[in-house]
Amino acid sequence: MDSIIKMLDKSLDYVSHELIKDTLYITVVSNLITNKCPKCSVKSNKVHSRYQKSFQDLPIQGKKVIIIIKNRNFFCINKECDKYTFSEEFSFIDPKAKKTRRLIDEIVRVSLNQSSLSAARYLSETTAKVKKSSICNYLKKNNKNR
Ligand SMILES: [Zn+2]
Repeated sequence: MDSIIKMLDKSLDYVSHELIKDTLYITVVSNLITNKCPKCSVKSNKVHSRYQKSFQDLPIQGKKVIIIIKNRNFFCINKECDKYTFSEEFSFIDPKAKKTRRLIDEIVRVSLNQSSLSAARYLSETTAKVKKSSICNYLKKNNKNR
């Protein structure tokens, strides 16, 4: 399972998993000691606090996947910077998103050839819970990026 998690990001370590109905809940931790402040780019190793964050990813063995991470807030150690704390960020997901980028890519791919309503039904059964309105937003963003 650790090698599967590493395919998403090498800085994640597998901790445990639990299968509940059709969903695999995978708990992970970050193995990075330092994190870069998004404002000043100075690296900090001073952890301020931790909070639980969860997000959806691509299915594994036909099971939907929800990844749970104890995300960290760091102090910015640069005295010149006006950011007091910042939260750990990863390249595979937007800071406030609840789905990984590769899952959103898959949702867009499936939704291009059918109505958003039938795509939402199909994806929620096979891939990840997704609302019709979210699909419409992803498709709009996808068109803009072309
Ligand atoms: Zn900073």
